[in-house]
Amino acid sequence: METGIRGRKAIVCASSKGLGKGCALALGREGVELFILARGEEALQATAEEIRKDSGATVTAIAGDITTPEGRAKVLAACPNPDILVNNAGGPPPGDFRDWSLDDWNAALNANMLTPIELIKATVDGMIERKFGRIVNITSASVKSPIPILGMSNGARAGLTGFVAGLARQTVKHNVTINGLLPGPFETDRVRKTASVAAEKSGKSIDEVLDGRRKENPAGRFGTIEEFGAACAFLCSAHAGFITGQNLVMDGGAYNGTMG
Ligand code: NAP
Repeated sequence: METGIRGRKAIVCASSKGLGKGCALALGREGVELFILARGEEALQATAEEIRKDSGATVTAIAGDITTPEGRAKVLAACPNPDILVNNAGGPPPGDFRDWSLDDWNAALNANMLTPIELIKATVDGMIERKFGRIVNITSASVKSPIPILGMSNGARAGLTGFVAGLARQTVKHNVTINGLLPGPFETDRVRKTASVAAEKSGKSIDEVLDGRRKENPAGRFGTIEEFGAACAFLCSAHAGFITGQNLVMDGGAYNGTMG
């Protein structure tokens, strides 16, 4: 399918690795000009080069922390009028809520709720004026099916989802859509890191923990960043203007429900 977004400009946050990188690779293949961002310069430059080689896309790499006003200002200075915005950042740590301070909560809310809202605020009116905009928020399957040890993630991402549910219905008449992509388990560094904690606790190897997690998924495997990126590219396509305020779970069927 021709997605009809060749020549559009996209900011893809937190995209030197993992799901954000999957989205950037897929949008690059659709001929989108990319502005990618992460804190670590080395991996960021390597990913920028990989995308250029993969698709020939024009890629501007911006080293910065998207959860800070400075990081956001840097990416917005490089691309003040994006047609596509993919919101993403690292996830909050797991734990017991009794151990979390107000500062811990504020960091989680800042990264996974307020940062995407700030970026939407900075870009959505331009999209409305130009009559085209696609905003995709990378959240988590935990929005539909909370994960007890990820309480801060459950809370912050639900807050973002609730906010955009209202906004998405105001922008759609201008061909500006806002949707959530909700990953279950995907093969990324983050999944390997969380497996290493579980391995330490259980005395199993990281590979044993990962294999167990793969087997317990109805698909018998993890998702790939290419699959995630392809779904993102479709939501950003010219054809997706009638899809807004939705939350697409990508989890191999792990969420056990028929509706909603
Ligand atoms: P990942 O493989 O660890 O990659 C995270 C990417 O984001 C890296 O490029 C990282 O680069 C960048 N990043 C992190 N914090 C940043 C910041 N403050 N500013 C700019 N860039 C930042 O993680 P992932 O698995 O793709 O996960 C992405 C998001 O999806 C996370 O919020 C995660 O909780 C959520 N999620 C993932 C899964 C999964 O199965 N993978 C499932 C559910 C939810 P630098 O560290 O160099 O900045």
